[in-house]
Amino acid sequence: MQEDKKILLASSNKGKLKEFRRIFKNYEVISQGELNIQESVEDGLTFLENALIKARHGSSNSGLFTVADDSGIVVPGLDFAPGIYSARYAGENASDLDNRNKIIDELKARGLKSLPAYYVCVLVGVHSVEDPMPIFSSGEVHGEVSINSSGEGGFGYDKIFYPSGYGFSMADMDPNEKNEISHRAIASKSFLNKLESLKTT
Ligand code: IMP
Repeated sequence: MQEDKKILLASSNKGKLKEFRRIFKNYEVISQGELNIQESVEDGLTFLENALIKARHGSSNSGLFTVADDSGIVVPGLDFAPGIYSARYAGENASDLDNRNKIIDELKARGLKSLPAYYVCVLVGVHSVEDPMPIFSSGEVHGEVSINSSGEGGFGYDKIFYPSGYGFSMADMDPNEKNEISHRAIASKSFLNKLESLKTT
């Protein structure tokens, strides 16, 4: 494998690594965990800043082209919460159930059954810490969050997120279909196109 075909994924999450390897099948994808690189401190205010912080951290510790993602759910009607705080919306050690319940409580407190919402995934790739032109892509899945929980699949907010045009929750969706239409899949495919076109220009 050529050196320029190696990509470090700035995450230790096994699910993300598997998904990423499936899409970036012509590359050798190594995870941060495999190189014993510690997680970075995500102290940005946007998905974009946090993904860039993680990508730079991975690249400076490995010397490799590094890709990082940051994702979450945004509810414009709740002042764009939970946003970058999606994993810890209900507190530092909150479970997925705690986080979903907090959204349900916020909806009920406003006398609402649902609100428009979207999942977002941002991907950033850097060749080095000094890279002046990071590769950037994003993907979104729009729908609504509801006070009604449904489904057994997925994780995070999937049981209360109803993607537009489906009539069931993300947790009710076939996992293969979720992998095809997800914010992560959209961002990854767009990122791959940009990476490939860089090599031909
Ligand atoms: P991270 O990018 O892995 O840090 O994800 C941030 C948080 O966003 C997760 O802990 C979930 O709460 C939420 N999230 C991101 N993607 C999804 C998804 O596909 N389904 C449900 N929740 C998600």
